[in-house]
Amino acid sequence: MKKKYNFSGGIKCLSIKEELDKYIIYHIPNPNKFYMYIQHNTFKNNMLRVRINQKVLCGEPLTFGDKSSVPIHSPTSGWIKSIELDSHSISSKKKYIKITIVSDYLNQWIRLKKINDYKLYSPKSLIKIIYQLGVVGLGGAHFSSSEKLILGINSKVHTLVVNAVESDPYITADYCLMTNCLSEIFIGCEIITWISKVTNILIVIQEDKIELISKIQSLIKNKKLFKVCILKKKYPGGSSKIIIKSLTGKDIPYGKHSIDIGYLIFNVSTIYAIKKAIINGKPLIQRIVSLYNHRNHSFKNVLIKIGTPINFLLNFLKINNSSNDIYIGGLFMKYLLMNLNQPILKDTNCISITKHTRNVKKNINYECINCGYCVQVCPVNLLPQKLYLYSKNNNHEKTKESFIMDCIECNICEQICPSNIPLVTYFKHEKFIQNQIDKENKKKKEFFYRFQLREKRILNQKKSFYQNKNDFNNTDLTNTNILNKKTNKNFINQKQIDKNIRKEILRSSIERAKLKNKNL
Ligand code: SF4
Ligand code: SF4
Repeated sequence: MKKKYNFSGGIKCLSIKEELDKYIIYHIPNPNKFYMYIQHNTFKNNMLRVRINQKVLCGEPLTFGDKSSVPIHSPTSGWIKSIELDSHSISSKKKYIKITIVSDYLNQWIRLKKINDYKLYSPKSLIKIIYQLGVVGLGGAHFSSSEKLILGINSKVHTLVVNAVESDPYITADYCLMTNCLSEIFIGCEIITWISKVTNILIVIQEDKIELISKIQSLIKNKKLFKVCILKKKYPGGSSKIIIKSLTGKDIPYGKHSIDIGYLIFNVSTIYAIKKAIINGKPLIQRIVSLYNHRNHSFKNVLIKIGTPINFLLNFLKINNSSNDIYIGGLFMKYLLMNLNQPILKDTNCISITKHTRNVKKNINYECINCGYCVQVCPVNLLPQKLYLYSKNNNHEKTKESFIMDCIECNICEQICPSNIPLVTYFKHEKFIQNQIDKENKKKKEFFYRFQLREKRILNQKKSFYQNKNDFNNTDLTNTNILNKKTNKNFINQKQIDKNIRKEILRSSIERAKLKNKNL
């Protein structure tokens, strides 16, 4: 019997009725309009590669991308209808640049640069291709895969962890992909191995996927690098912190990543996208999205292009959205969709549909009864009821001391709480405040450092001035601080000297400013 890895906390979910067509990939046709979004804080004026009314081909890059964002690509051939600022469709807190593309239904592609033997290319040039073809983490993190690979090389990782854990019972997109495209995922793993030079590949999968496990085992029989790790079926199992803890018993320290302790984690969909980018030359313009309809307990996995409005998908599947609530996300981590024109994004892995319940009042009791259920289920060993009390009372020091930043926002404490306390809403707000405090502290440190430099510089200028004049004693000088008022009354002509010092400081500041302007 193979060893099963486990983690503390978490909850066992009842299996949802298995459907025969659960792992069939359904194809969705092109809508008339696609909406592509770029976060405004990453957007720079020279990032756009297209203009209004321009004709585009499928896979054509729309932006250049920069250090913090990968380029985005057109999911269709057609033309650019508009480029505008939009702050409401996805999140009211963030501003986005929205590019609307009208499809011509011809699906004409750009010329793709395919690679037969990736081993003829250096890791650096392969990472560049992964960046240029817009590959990001598809498990929800949305982190640039090229950036992750660069960090992996720099930190000298030794193990690639293939995250094939989908613990939310509503989400089956990754299992669907594995059932249909397993050999391509293996090629993706080999490409990452070539780039990062890892010496082990661990495929982490949950115990209930028996067929898939035996399929993987037969495929890796002669491959020494690969090993299958079976994880207990519990929610949440897919977080990188939990996977590393289960496999190694090690905690990832706060502010660090699995890469820092030698483990490079990629979700299976991301590995598949890397394979498509390198071998087929295809940019990331589509993904599999799970669709779960709570009303008739039906599952579907659809291959859909990024930028397709969710409204179009629901209409195509004949789902009436007036009597339903549409959520992005699975059973545990989800948010209610307020605007059905929101498109499918690169990190959208599930859409769940439930009966309209907004008017049904929940039995609310916001008082913590100290039952301790939340402590038992927390997978990262936190004390949610304490965190709640500290957050509620704005006791930021205590929340920090109680490791609130380690919370993975898995939502199970909130789901299990008999008092229906919106725990995670409190935690998210508190984490936001902690980040602000951190930023503030960093700024203060920086200011203090600059202040010290300035003081030193002034002291040096003073020193050189007096040395030049040959009328100043060095011993006196070292005791001189510009912040401390000088009280030596014996000093002759002090006023004149101070005036000269100020003149000298002003002159050198003007010179530095001029030099800076020149360099700009
Ligand atoms: S589960 Fe809810 S009521 Fe029970 S201890 Fe935790 S926060 Fe308090
Ligand atoms: S949301 Fe945070 S505190 Fe609650 S169970 Fe998950 S990790 Fe623990």
